[in-house]
Amino acid sequence: EAKEQGKGRFIFYDDSLKEDIDENMSLTNDLYSALENNEFELVYQPQVDATSQQINGFEALIRWHHPDRGLLSPAKFIPLAEQTGLIIPIGEWVIRTAMAQQKKWQERIGKAVRMSVNLSTKQLKMVDLVDFIERARLEFEIDPAYFELEITESIFMADTTQILDQLERIKKIGMAVAIDDFGTEYASLSYLKKLPLDRIKIPKTFIDGIGNNEKDEAIIVSIIILAIKLGCNTIAEGVEDEQQLIFLKQHGCAEIQGYYFYHPMQAQKIEHELLNPNKKTNGLICLPAHKI
Ligand code: C2E
Ligand code: MG
Ligand code: MG
Ligand code: MG
Repeated sequence: EAKEQGKGRFIFYDDSLKEDIDENMSLTNDLYSALENNEFELVYQPQVDATSQQINGFEALIRWHHPDRGLLSPAKFIPLAEQTGLIIPIGEWVIRTAMAQQKKWQERIGKAVRMSVNLSTKQLKMVDLVDFIERARLEFEIDPAYFELEITESIFMADTTQILDQLERIKKIGMAVAIDDFGTEYASLSYLKKLPLDRIKIPKTFIDGIGNNEKDEAIIVSIIILAIKLGCNTIAEGVEDEQQLIFLKQHGCAEIQGYYFYHPMQAQKIEHELLNPNKKTNGLICLPAHKI
């Protein structure tokens, strides 16, 4: 059948592909009204000191409560938000919501709480991004040293000098920058010389290999050494078991983020279980986000 339709025409050879595209179109439609319908939520995953196991900070992660489809993870809709440009208002909502939460928790425990948010490369291309962040910071009275922005290597698909300029401005207003999923995208080590990085996040794909893949282990050890030599903090993502924790600790990884300690949690659960003076916890330290 496809043959008869001739060359140069786009044909769905695969029904499941067509279904994916249809689903994405309908999701995209819904995405346009999700913000005003209040369908997004941030959950927060504690970031733990590898040695003391105390909580040093939180990463804010977005969720979409879709009216028909239920809870959707960012992998399902962040790419659509990026394609449509909706990532700009959604990203602004993320920044303000994370800061409001940070402020609330800070008042609750009487000291600053460290918070990280993920930035899409599209956001970094907006010239007024840093002004927006700084205005929000002043409004919520956040200490900038406790606020961190996570970027990915996909920034290298864009105009790097412009991005670099944005990152310098983020540093200038006193905030920290982390590189997420380090070594999984368009990595070139030379960017480590140029980027003002405070933290390197070791991706789960490498952590999964601990105990069963010597190459993953070699890469992890090298990243940690590299980070230490560059004066950057390290955090391992997706840590799920004790063997992984022991390996990371042995090799000097500073912090751990993963299900072994905590899943991402709703704000209310964090307040109840981690910020509750009547409950015994490992303790909440909350360090500034900057490099050591
Ligand atoms: P990420 O920034 O690398 O976040 C870490 C992801 O790993 C999160 O998935 C987290 O729930 C998951 N994770 C953490 N520990 C474990 C573990 O031990 N085991 C397993 N299996 N997973 C673990 P999540 O929340 O689904 O987010 C996926 C990605 O979506 C994020 O990866 C980030 O790139 C993006 N994202 C999330 N929130 C936002 C946002 O507000 N804005 C933007 N632009 N992107 C976001
Ligand atoms: Mg992240
Ligand atoms: Mg990551
Ligand atoms: Mg990521």
